[in-house]
Amino acid sequence: MPCYICETCGTQYSSSPEPPSHCAICEDDRQYVGLGGQTWTTHAALAQRYGLRIENDDGLLGIGVLGEFAIPQRALLLPTSVGNILWECVSLVTDEAVAAVKTRGGLSQIIISHPHFYSAMVEWSEAFGGVPILLHEADRDWVRRSSPRVSFWSGDVHVFSRDVTLIRCGGHFPGSTALHWQPTNRRPVLLPGDALQVASDRRHVAFMYSYPNYVPMKTSDVVDMRQRLAGYDFEDVYGFTWTRNIIGNGRAAVAASFERHLRMVTT
Ligand SMILES: [Zn+2]
Ligand SMILES: [Zn+2]
Repeated sequence: MPCYICETCGTQYSSSPEPPSHCAICEDDRQYVGLGGQTWTTHAALAQRYGLRIENDDGLLGIGVLGEFAIPQRALLLPTSVGNILWECVSLVTDEAVAAVKTRGGLSQIIISHPHFYSAMVEWSEAFGGVPILLHEADRDWVRRSSPRVSFWSGDVHVFSRDVTLIRCGGHFPGSTALHWQPTNRRPVLLPGDALQVASDRRHVAFMYSYPNYVPMKTSDVVDMRQRLAGYDFEDVYGFTWTRNIIGNGRAAVAASFERHLRMVTT
């Protein structure tokens, strides 16, 4: 039985003889059902129609679906002290992607910021022999394809390794997670998923409950996020898709963006 993939959000569901009757991710008010109604594909069909873009994105290896498909996020391969982490995920995994990752030392862990990027995480895990997937427990009910490879962390901070810390930002989703990476050989990095989003000017970030539907984030959630990120230093911020990155002065850019946002919604 195939594991169907929603064509609007790119989320893969547990196997079923027929496509699911609806997509809970898309019917949620943070997303939307496509203009033509709910449509489904499978991983095999997707592999016929699309390939992957596998290339450098401001110094990190990025992997994204090549062409117009679903949410255009790209995953990043982070060479950490505990092996390569795939941060975020995409709906397609190819032999070329597996080979590209293996030539860089393979894959130790998949970590994803929030349900919009769960995509084909189990497919990715299995392509590397069952790599563990780590998600925040607060978003557990949004997992559409369950697997023994998936585990959950809870609370507001999880020290994953000596250089990687997961911070629950909340706001966009209750479990929306930012990954803070402090490597020894490069500048500290913040990878916030959609908890905050790098703006088109690459000098600010924005805070929204729903980005496609223009629903603002609760002010109390923005204030909480600022508090949770307060103790972390970082130079670079890698946003959700290609080149949506702030390279240099990231800490100051995020601080100024919190200030600007809170000024705009409270005056
Ligand atoms: Zn969907
Ligand atoms: Zn999102």
